[in-house]
Amino acid sequence: MNSFFGLPEKVKYCKNCLLSNQKPISINENNNSKKTKKIKMSFGKNGICSACEISEKKKKIDWKLREKKLLRILDKYRKNNNEYDCIIPGSGGKDSMYTTYMLKHKYNMNPLTVTQSPILPTKMGLKNFRSWINYCGVNNILASPNARVTAALAREAFINLLHPMQPFKFGIKTVAVKEALRRNIKLIFYGEPYSEYGSEAKNSDKKATYNFSWFTNKKEDNYIGGLKEGEIKRKYNWIKESDLRAFASLEPNEIKGKKLQVEFLGWYLKWDPQEIYYFVSKYCGFEPDYQRTEGSYGRYTGIDDKFDWLHFYCSFIKFGIGRCRQDASQEIRNGHITRDEGIMLCKKFESEGSGRFFKDCYEFMNLSEKDANKIIDNFRSPHLWRREKGKWSRLQLDY
Ligand SMILES: [Zn+2]
Repeated sequence: MNSFFGLPEKVKYCKNCLLSNQKPISINENNNSKKTKKIKMSFGKNGICSACEISEKKKKIDWKLREKKLLRILDKYRKNNNEYDCIIPGSGGKDSMYTTYMLKHKYNMNPLTVTQSPILPTKMGLKNFRSWINYCGVNNILASPNARVTAALAREAFINLLHPMQPFKFGIKTVAVKEALRRNIKLIFYGEPYSEYGSEAKNSDKKATYNFSWFTNKKEDNYIGGLKEGEIKRKYNWIKESDLRAFASLEPNEIKGKKLQVEFLGWYLKWDPQEIYYFVSKYCGFEPDYQRTEGSYGRYTGIDDKFDWLHFYCSFIKFGIGRCRQDASQEIRNGHITRDEGIMLCKKFESEGSGRFFKDCYEFMNLSEKDANKIIDNFRSPHLWRREKGKWSRLQLDY
């Protein structure tokens, strides 16, 4: 048996949650060529994943002390002269709503919110986006790269990496920084630290990690959708250099010496997704999806872009980690469900294929469903998938 993408051939599951050693951590996406091997999530010696280790440590955190640290930072950057003192990137999901509400109304900051438009916004997403701005009472800058270029890049990212949202994710990582540099705003506040999902766990007890190297690159080393910029321009001769700016990383010297501070509110305040959902429903007009999210059992996470559904499904195909497994693992860590309940949920929902928006995504990328399924099957690693009697079955599910 051999495995794709340098994944470990033997799947090991965390003893506490349901994540496995197959989950890659966030890396600089602009370095992601077809051949890149993923960096795997670290497992401690006791068989516990890094997301669970962090969650354990969180139980001992002195939140009062953390809040004091937060106040010190906010006092340092608060301008009190009607200028924006910080940027909050987001889309109007529950995390950006909560971050905005707290910074504006509890801590008296004057934030500017910045949004990279979802590729194909959903109705609920648009509604929540407006509620975010209106209920929280903030201004917003919406960056909407042109759809024709986005479609071509999403298509390449789907074909080459089975990661159709990858070009959009570049935008998310850089849009706030670009806006901060343009307006000379020194503080950027995200909601949930990446460490919550097992990414970049090192040193997270000292500070939430945010590494500018995740989105800075020398231009010649830049990949989008698994292709170098030059390859994209050769393949799509109507795409110009300027069209790619919205998806490109920053050059190292654009950030150097600018003293940008990037923070995560979730490092300073206790961050329980379910509690946050209740809070923003009550105070910010947040509304969950009107039906269950296919591939999982919830209704309120990752519901603003039609591509979210396909994105999680692709992660299930490549790493055997579907949306249900991510949701359940996070709820196990927060003590809302047991591991056995999580396993039941995964059995029921994880392999659920056709999300209600897959067709819209394929159409946007100019792919037939048949071709899209062929591409998906190309990414099924033999250590995770076997085809029997015309059906795919997921291997190594021994928890
Ligand atoms: Zn775990």
